[in-house]
Parts: sequence; C-alpha cells; structure tokens
Amino acid sequence: MKSTLMHLKSCRRALVASHVNPDGDAIGSLIAMGLALKSLGKEVTMYNESAIPAVYQFLPAIDRIVSRVADFSAYDTAVILDCGNLDRVGEAGSAIGAIGTVVNIDHHVTNNGFGDLQYVDTEACASAELVYRLIHELGVTISEAMAWSLYTGILTDTGSFRFSNTNRAAFAISEEMLTIGVDPWMVAQYVYGTYSLGRIKLLNLALDTIELAHDGKVSLMTVTRKMLEKTGTRPEDADGMINYARGIEDVRLAVLIQQNGNGGPAANGNGPYHVSLRSDGSVDAAAIAAAFGGGGHASAAGFNVEAVSLAELKARILELATDL
Ligand code: 5GP
Ligand code: MN
Repeated sequence: MKSTLMHLKSCRRALVASHVNPDGDAIGSLIAMGLALKSLGKEVTMYNESAIPAVYQFLPAIDRIVSRVADFSAYDTAVILDCGNLDRVGEAGSAIGAIGTVVNIDHHVTNNGFGDLQYVDTEACASAELVYRLIHELGVTISEAMAWSLYTGILTDTGSFRFSNTNRAAFAISEEMLTIGVDPWMVAQYVYGTYSLGRIKLLNLALDTIELAHDGKVSLMTVTRKMLEKTGTRPEDADGMINYARGIEDVRLAVLIQQNGNGGPAANGNGPYHVSLRSDGSVDAAAIAAAFGGGGHASAAGFNVEAVSLAELKARILELATDL
C-alpha cells in the first residue's frame, strides 16, 4: 500500500480505468478514485470502454467517464481498478499496459499481479473499500460525489450486504458515507427499484430457460440475443437475474450464459458468450472460470468464450462441475 500511496501522491497525469461491462463497484471505484486524484491537483481521465448501464446514471460525476482516449501515451500513470488482469479493461489493454507506471488495485482472488505497483486485498468486500482506504491515507476529504460512488460500489458488490464478502468495513464505510450525505433509499430506488417493462419481460423469458443438472446441484439460465431483441433490452438488463437460478433449493452452482454478452459482434458459431457463475460457497466458481480464461471470486466469477455452440458450452461447464 505504501508504495502505491507514494506513487499516487507524486504522479501528474493519471488514466483511471475499470473493467468492461462495468458493475456498480467498477463504476463507483472509478469515479471516487478519479475525483480523489483530481482533488490532489492531478490531471485525470476516467475511462471505461463500455457504455454505462442506465441504473448508474444517477451518480454525480458519471458524465466524467469517457469511453475514448486519443493518446494513451500522454499519461504517466494508469490506475486500474477491479480488474483481475489487464485484459479486463478491454481492447485498450496493451496500450494502457505501456503507460509508464501501471497501478493494480483489486480484490479478486484470481488477480494475476499485473502492473508495476499492486494494492490487492482479497479480504476487501469491494474495490471501493480499497479506494476508500487509499483516499483516507491520501488525506483527501471525501466529497458527496465520492461518497455516493463508494456507497454504490459496496452496496452492489456485496449484493446489498448479503453475499459472503460482506464484512465490517462494508457497514462502517457505508455508515460514514451516509454521514456525508448519501441517501440509501435513493440509491436503492435507482439501482434496484426502477426497471423498464422490457426488462421484466426479459426476466420472464430468462426464468423459463432455467434447467437443472447434476441432481439439481447445478442450475443453468440462458439469455439469447433473440430474447434481447424481442424485449428491446440490452445485455446489462440481465444483470442480477442469475440470483433467481442461484436461489433454487439445493443448487450449489448457478450458471448464466449470455449470448453476445459483451455486446460485440457475433463470432463464428453462436458466440461470443459471457458466462456468469455463482456458488453457495461449496464450489470454487473462480477455478471453473479460470479454466476458461476468466476469473473472479470463489462465490462469483465469470468468463467470455468465442465460437462454440450453446450445447457444447453447457456440456463443457457441466464437465468441470462434476465434483459437487
Ligand atoms: P459477472 O458474472 O457479474 O459478470 O462477474 C462476476 C465476477 O467475475 C466479477 O467479480 C467479475 O469481475 C468476474 N468476471 C466476470 N467476467 C470475467 C472475465 O471474463 N474475466 C475475469 N478475469 N473475471 C471476470
Ligand atoms: Mn468488484
């Protein structure tokens, strides 16, 4: 942490970035870190390759995130948040990797230790917890905009304080953010309480795809491109739907297969797919994801696959999940 702090104090032009298809933690950490460095007088660009999901548009300073950077070599520092490996930032991965000093701030067990400086703590409930600690150590006063971002990161990554990564810091930091001015009811309304009719229709279709395997210990849910078209929804509208598959009694591992999950062009076969894995703690989801080149946490992990048929993909996942 010390060398990361020293570098954050001395850098001048920083690119702050988080992973593609960002969740609340990737967005919240990005904004809070970016604003903190700005308040220290740094020149800062907040970068995320993907479109920001509608549910996070309420965050103050969300407009400061850009999806295009003219010249990555103009920065002396890249601060990479919530990424287990550098490829997670997307297509600009190699250009960002060439920036003078790459700082890796993350909480995933599969973090591969990329970068010149690492502040990786798998005990943290969210990357936002690590950003909070850094901001605190940097002596930066947490503004309201930072507070909304940090709170949203912690709320979403802990599944509203329900997942196994929920720790004391999640509550302590949240309490502090409320003191600064965050309204938890408003965050909940924006993030969980507002959805399009299309999203509900998509949920209906997705629920209908649920199938069980391995004596009911594995559940599989599928969201196809066609289903998105039919309901007028976007890939991120399926966020959270896997929890229905996970909650089925006796299920130890839930699998959500999202066709075209990255929003990219269709490759040969029926892919690309994004696969989300959730476990009840008795199965190591990160290990299964890692076998496909992905990663994450023991209880929540994911990976992308290119050209493969849906049937083959399911068979390959189930083959790896036999030890239940
Ligand atoms: P989700 O299923 O919500 O996309 O992701 C669950 C967890 O797995 C998150 O912590 C996320 O960062 C991680 N994850 C998802 N997809 C990938 C991937 O393609 N590669 C890696 N390394 N991690 C992923
Ligand atoms: Mn995270």
